[in-house]
Amino acid sequence: MSQYLREQIRQVGEKFRANGLRWTEPRRAVVEVLVSSAGRHPTAAEIYRIVRQRYPKIGRATVYRTLDLLEKLGIIRHTFLQRAVPGYVFLHQGTHVHVICRKCEKVLELPDVPTQEILPQVQTITDFIIEGGVFELYGMCKSCQTQS
Ligand SMILES: [Zn+2]
Ligand SMILES: [Zn+2]
Repeated sequence: MSQYLREQIRQVGEKFRANGLRWTEPRRAVVEVLVSSAGRHPTAAEIYRIVRQRYPKIGRATVYRTLDLLEKLGIIRHTFLQRAVPGYVFLHQGTHVHVICRKCEKVLELPDVPTQEILPQVQTITDFIIEGGVFELYGMCKSCQTQS
């Protein structure tokens, strides 16, 4: 695991403690799966299966509750992406951008798109303190454009 990912996990641990939540080994294991599965959007069941390989005694409820906590803290968000079951996204920079082709359903990930310009505008309009989230933009990819 890279230094960057380790640092991301450490910051999540700090956020847990700052919110009076215990930073336990099973919780850390769930976060580890999330930070290292960029672009895969694992479902809760998939995360449970991976974490259980390292912690055979971990309960399904622990994993699901941890995902719930992480989402409440704004550290992860779920996305459906044409599936019935949501997958989870770790918000490395606060936001995560998907561009989806409505014809072939190809998904592009744009982790470094500067959404910082949009967020202050939304904040002004809504009076919310905006923390981030997943942007999902639909359109038609280059190869589908040439086919039609
Ligand atoms: Zn994604
Ligand atoms: Zn396409």
